[in-house]
Amino acid sequence: MKTIGVLTSGGDAPGMNATIRAVTRAAIAKNITVKGIYRGFNGLLNRHIEELEVRSVSNIIEKGGTMLYTARCPEFVPLEGVRKGVKICIDEGIEGIIVIGGDGSFRGAKDLSNEGIPCIGIPCTIDNDIASTEYTVGFDTAMNTAMELMDKVRDTAQSHDRCSVVEVMGRRAGDIALQTGIACGATSILVKEKDYTIDDAIKRINTTRTGGKHHFIVVVSEGFTAGNKIDANQIALKIEEATGVETRATILGHVQRGGAPTLRDRVVASQLGYHAVELLNAGKGNRVVGIKNNAIVDYEINEALSMQNVFDDELYKIAKTISF
Ligand code: ADP
Repeated sequence: MKTIGVLTSGGDAPGMNATIRAVTRAAIAKNITVKGIYRGFNGLLNRHIEELEVRSVSNIIEKGGTMLYTARCPEFVPLEGVRKGVKICIDEGIEGIIVIGGDGSFRGAKDLSNEGIPCIGIPCTIDNDIASTEYTVGFDTAMNTAMELMDKVRDTAQSHDRCSVVEVMGRRAGDIALQTGIACGATSILVKEKDYTIDDAIKRINTTRTGGKHHFIVVVSEGFTAGNKIDANQIALKIEEATGVETRATILGHVQRGGAPTLRDRVVASQLGYHAVELLNAGKGNRVVGIKNNAIVDYEINEALSMQNVFDDELYKIAKTISF
């Protein structure tokens, strides 16, 4: 393989830059030319493509965001969009593409592979919602950001004997809520994966209050609020009305998507970026890389997309048992 493309697509995540760097450097080390495609599949369709050299990716390993920018590209979903992309790849001499993003982006990668341009997907999303890997680049940074912010919220909840409802991201997976909930000693964790309800959280506040607790953190995932058509402020109001404890809501939002990637995200980004280049160079395409039992693995994209996310019930049980 002489020339490959690399793009970031869908929602951004800390560690995308570290992944671009790993892909670029691993490819150049094999004498493969790397072309950066800007703003996801949009850049392919609009030919916003520039060669990346060794120094083009200097000083980005520690930066949040993505130097290639990211976007959603509805024109790429129908087959005619994909075929237009294939023509441009042929024209530009791009023989394979590494797609950094989430499930949606991998569907684009699969379509391109099926039309003759082999693609490898690298899971990069803060939500950890990709079933074919135990870990997605960006997750650790997002969890740590949410934890730090939740600690601050806890300080003020503690000073005022309040309850704080903190909404974290994760529309399709409650992993950020679970991990930060346990790390911050949340009284309750509301996720779409469990039947635990707002009424259960209210009961728990009342019980723990009897046991001498004065401040409470209720972590709620975006998937729970979306699924129950309720927002964090409404949950706070319900809790306050039912318990008499002054309750405030904080929606952490996009702060969780930014910031310098943690060590773990930089290391995993480097491993997955390197492995993706190895696959493309070995003539493989239509695959996604990931981590299973601490080893780097790869799956055919369709197989990966058909896998079901597994929620860590054991960790949820532990959180429930020890936070009162
Ligand atoms: P994520 O990759 O974070 O899951 P999206 O679901 O928004 O984000 O997908 C990102 C992009 O991937 C879309 O804007 C589109 O360009 C491409 N894409 C998504 N679904 C498909 C599909 N079924 N076929 C082709 N391309 C797709």
